[in-house]
Amino acid sequence: MPFELDTILRKEPYPLLIDGKEVASREGRTFETLNPATGRVIASVYEADEGDVNAAVAAARRAYEGPWSKFTPKERSKALLRLATKLAEHSELMAQLEVLDVGKPIAQSRASIVGTPATLEYYASVLLTLAGETINVSDNSLIDFTLRESLGVCGLILPWNYPVSLAILKLAPALAAGNTVVIKPSEVTPLSSVEMGRAILEAGFPAGVVNIVNGPGATTGMALVRHPDVAKISFTGGTVTGQAISREAATTVKRLTLELGGKSPLVVFEDGDIAKAVGVAYADITRNTGQVCAACTRLVLHEKVADEFLEALTAKLVKVKVGDPQDEGTEMGPIVNQRQMQRISDYLAIGAEEGARPQSYLDFSGRKELEGGYFVPPILFHDAESGMRVAREEIFGPVQTVLRFKTEEDAVRIANDSPYGLAAVAMTRDAARAMRMARSVQAGSVCINHGAKAAVDAPFGGYKQSGIGKERGIAAMLDDTQIKNVRFSVA
Ligand code: NDP
Repeated sequence: MPFELDTILRKEPYPLLIDGKEVASREGRTFETLNPATGRVIASVYEADEGDVNAAVAAARRAYEGPWSKFTPKERSKALLRLATKLAEHSELMAQLEVLDVGKPIAQSRASIVGTPATLEYYASVLLTLAGETINVSDNSLIDFTLRESLGVCGLILPWNYPVSLAILKLAPALAAGNTVVIKPSEVTPLSSVEMGRAILEAGFPAGVVNIVNGPGATTGMALVRHPDVAKISFTGGTVTGQAISREAATTVKRLTLELGGKSPLVVFEDGDIAKAVGVAYADITRNTGQVCAACTRLVLHEKVADEFLEALTAKLVKVKVGDPQDEGTEMGPIVNQRQMQRISDYLAIGAEEGARPQSYLDFSGRKELEGGYFVPPILFHDAESGMRVAREEIFGPVQTVLRFKTEEDAVRIANDSPYGLAAVAMTRDAARAMRMARSVQAGSVCINHGAKAAVDAPFGGYKQSGIGKERGIAAMLDDTQIKNVRFSVA
């Protein structure tokens, strides 16, 4: 049953959240957001310019130096737990907004948001363990110890594929460590973050601890990156944008966490569980229409099992339910916008030119209900080689590249033949080989016999050009702190 838009969407432009209040942008400028399933405008949103970003950073700075710095760890923990409760209350609305704004099928949208309170609960608990250490220095007249201190104002710049869940994955460790934040959601998908802001207001944080500024990356995002009072930028998005942010952040020597692209391999050995491996490939090509940074987009198959694997995968792909993301039964919705759809179509041409054979597994002709939306069928590139652009570059859609191997050595070489190193999956029943793969594959997460799904309590973050720093786990909270060394003379 489709939602009634009137009951979900606000009539007025969606506001910014600055200094504990929902506000219009100073200049009153707005932008529109579209439903990718129809291509139609669904809402307008206030656009923050540099003045609005400055106001948000100033509010975050006042909160950091003022009330938030007086919160004990226990009080910070309780504040995160209150937010967890409020987010749970707002989760259905946020899930519905992400259906409209991202084009995410409702079941997947709910699944991605329902876990966000658990993220806050996790950091509410681990922040109580934040501690420095004492060091036995080689001078007996000194007692030497460290303090783990917060950084200050953190700028959180977010992508469009999981707006709220990724925002909470950055916000929770940053607040747990004692920082305040300014969040810049993607201008492509701003709506659910505004509702997240309402939950933040209801949770009763001191004004300015969390601020949300919507607007384009090049202006709103850059104003945050340039701001001298922002101590750290935590960014998730494309590698090219990550490089631009790194360059600009260097001017004010900001700390950085960068969660960038991936081209993760699914390596299937001849002794692997083929049905399970097919399940991983299928989930990764269909989930969020393949717009997932850690998704396995290179199918690295042993030559003895490649045909059996592809036959089983094909049998599933021809039946995938593509359609209105509001329908409970839909497995694959649209691509987020026209630009990303064009990018996929460009890669189809690039792959074909390189000699790979793109094969599409669904035909949308005659499906009038999909017209106007940004729908793309699942596509496999057959006959590909590791050096091809379609085997090396992030496409970000329902597209996987098939590569075959003969030996374990080959498999490792192919898996590592990428500028990225976000995640990898190896399917094998041989425990020694599994451990060799865990050691030799250059990726921040190596998953043996299950898909590359991240959990809140284990660190996640890329090797090579997939990023810097970690999200999730205690590591993310530590990345949001700095260490002060204290040398105390007892002589
Ligand atoms: P971007 O990396 O450009 O966007 C991510 C965020 O960064 C958005 O909030 C964006 O703002 C902001 N941003 C963009 N430029 C700047 C800048 N100069 N300074 C500060 N902030 C900036 O993603 P795209 O939408 O352009 O997608 C391009 C590619 O990135 C995709 O095809 C995919 O390969 C990859 N990607 C990876 C993701 C991941 O999870 N690792 C998620 C999304 C994309 P705004 O959108 O409002 O302009």
